[in-house]
Amino acid sequence: MVFSVGALLVAAAVVLFIVQPMVKGLHASLERDEDELTETEARKRVALLALRDVEYDYLAGKLDDEDYRSLKGELTAEALAALEADETARSGVLSGSAAAALEAEIAEARAGLRSGVFCSECGFANDPGSRFCSSCGHALHGIPAA
Ligand SMILES: [Zn+2]
Repeated sequence: MVFSVGALLVAAAVVLFIVQPMVKGLHASLERDEDELTETEARKRVALLALRDVEYDYLAGKLDDEDYRSLKGELTAEALAALEADETARSGVLSGSAAAALEAEIAEARAGLRSGVFCSECGFANDPGSRFCSSCGHALHGIPAA
């Protein structure tokens, strides 16, 4: 009896020894995923989503012209500030070429924000004159520039 209890304890210890690092590894990877979304990225995402919602509500007739212009002005300013904050936060750790690529991405997003060619499906800021979203392929509504 003593032997079988001992064997059971050994088996349990072996199982723990194998499972514990796996659980820790899984936990670590989950934490890493959360860390990938930095504060500035989150702010940028929220600002772009809010801007998308305004465009969507306007198209759906939930906002009149005056509300739309006022909300869009506020949210565009916030989105641009968030883009700049994100750019500043990232530029410290980026290599030269990555920083240049990000600059291009931001310039593109800014152009999209200013022309208002926003995807109502995914919120992607498309180039002026785009008829379909470059990100998800959704048909764009061609909201005129403010
Ligand atoms: Zn899209």
